[in-house]
Amino acid sequence: MTLVLVAEDDPEINNLMAITLRLEQYDVIQAHDGKQALHLIEQQTPDLLLLDVLMPGLNGYDVARELQKKSSTAHLPVIFVTAKQDMEDRVQGLEMAVDYICKPFAVPELLARVRTAVRVRKLQEQLERLALTDELTKLTNRRGFMAEFEDELWRARRFGHPLAVLIFDLDHFKRVNDTWGHPQGDEVLKAFARVLEHSSRRIDKVARFGGEEFAAVLPETDTAGAQIFAEKVCEATRSLEIFAGEQRVPLTVSVGGVAMNVARSEDENREGSDGNIGVLANHLLSEADHCLYDAKEAGRDRAVVHVFQNAEAG
Ligand code: GH3
Ligand code: MG
Ligand code: MG
Ligand code: MG
Repeated sequence: MTLVLVAEDDPEINNLMAITLRLEQYDVIQAHDGKQALHLIEQQTPDLLLLDVLMPGLNGYDVARELQKKSSTAHLPVIFVTAKQDMEDRVQGLEMAVDYICKPFAVPELLARVRTAVRVRKLQEQLERLALTDELTKLTNRRGFMAEFEDELWRARRFGHPLAVLIFDLDHFKRVNDTWGHPQGDEVLKAFARVLEHSSRRIDKVARFGGEEFAAVLPETDTAGAQIFAEKVCEATRSLEIFAGEQRVPLTVSVGGVAMNVARSEDENREGSDGNIGVLANHLLSEADHCLYDAKEAGRDRAVVHVFQNAEAG
């Protein structure tokens, strides 16, 4: 269902719009002024906003401006509805809206404009999702992972909570491709992606980093916890029953990771250094990568997880 918010102070026009949209199977919530509109948007996020420009208190432009201040609402598509025919006014409105409807409007015109705005919005959402998703495994891709990782780092540092990051690299994966072919290799990558998903908690973030490398961020997890998680993944991978015809495809994974413990007081002393979160993220990943290298060197099919020593340098 598509949820449309109608904000209009004239009750007759408000009801006309709401009834028209409901007949077309839209879910509609109605506000009678700008303040009420903002309140409703806070409670449930609509897919589209129809904002009357002239309303008492906060007008339609004020509401749109308020929404643009917050990243959670800045992307919401707005159609302004107004009796004003003034050209300058329309131009001002269009900077914050996807479309404009002049009162009095014909019902088919209202519906056509709503339909178009909703379609564009859904396409946009689909594109955003695709840009952050790995096509093969449907896990988050590297770009999406980095954004999630930085969010989690920021939170961990702000509240002084532990956090672990792990990198997974399938062992001798080239052999899988060479022996059973690339399509079978792809099946193995998909199977491993499911192992990661099933082994992790809902609050963990797992991703395909590229090629046969994967990554995970575990909030609220220290070195011991990260080691247990990594070994669980090693064990589940070893036990995977993937077949190429009659033959079982053996699979193991090596894991490198670091866990960061930040005391809250320490965190507060570093107020203002949040701009370096990207640097810290890369630093953690490169340390995890070193541990991965050690795991490979030590014979593969194992996990090496260290305490991240260098939080201050981040
Ligand atoms: P190691 O244990 O040292 O990690 O050995 P490895 O063979 O896994 O390491 P290497 O990095 O040399 O090879 C990785 C292989 O992963 C090579 C590449 O062909 C394969 N690969 C990367 N991306 C894909 C993919 O999307 N599908 C398939 N089937 N194979 C891929
Ligand atoms: Mg009005
Ligand atoms: Mg590799
Ligand atoms: Mg590998």
